[in-house]
Amino acid sequence: MVQANYGKPLFTKAEISKRVGELGDRISKDYKGEDLIMVCVMTGAYMFFADLTRVVRIPVVVDYLGVSSFGSRAKAKGAVRISSDLNQNIEGKHVLVVEDIVNSGLTMDYVKKNLLSREPRSLKVCTLLDKVEKRRANFQPDYVGFTIPNRYVVGYGLDYQDQYRNLPYIAVLGEE
Ligand code: 5GP
Repeated sequence: MVQANYGKPLFTKAEISKRVGELGDRISKDYKGEDLIMVCVMTGAYMFFADLTRVVRIPVVVDYLGVSSFGSRAKAKGAVRISSDLNQNIEGKHVLVVEDIVNSGLTMDYVKKNLLSREPRSLKVCTLLDKVEKRRANFQPDYVGFTIPNRYVVGYGLDYQDQYRNLPYIAVLGEE
């Protein structure tokens, strides 16, 4: 068990639930009458994805994408690879990628370029958290739950050394 401090919620269970509901409403309106494939970026987005897909009121097909970064995150520009690919053929389909957090934007920039090469009808990205201060890639998410300052956060799917994903709220690591 990794020992680390995390403080009181940055976003409580109730705040997350309210915001996820609002995102679900917007997505339901934007894709009304369309078929949508929602893609969960593993592993961090799994809890957000489960909640978001539950509040979206249109028929969706769900799929999963494993993405790994390798090398030093600070130095290895674009060092991202797909470790587990989609099951669905997305050609000609509306696709919404669901991510936990965008930081430099390098991961989502890579994922977007990779999936766009498969010629979906449309491709958008929904992230629960956005750390705009740290952006390095020319990438903007289409839907954002919360914009946050440059702090390392855990919980609600987000880990620190594989721990804390199952916290039901989001907390800043290193704060008590
Ligand atoms: P980016 O490529 O945008 O710099 O990084 C995105 C990935 O970095 C996220 O999918 C997540 O895995 C990780 N990450 C960035 N910031 C945080 C954070 O504050 N907490 C956690 N747990 N992971 C983060």
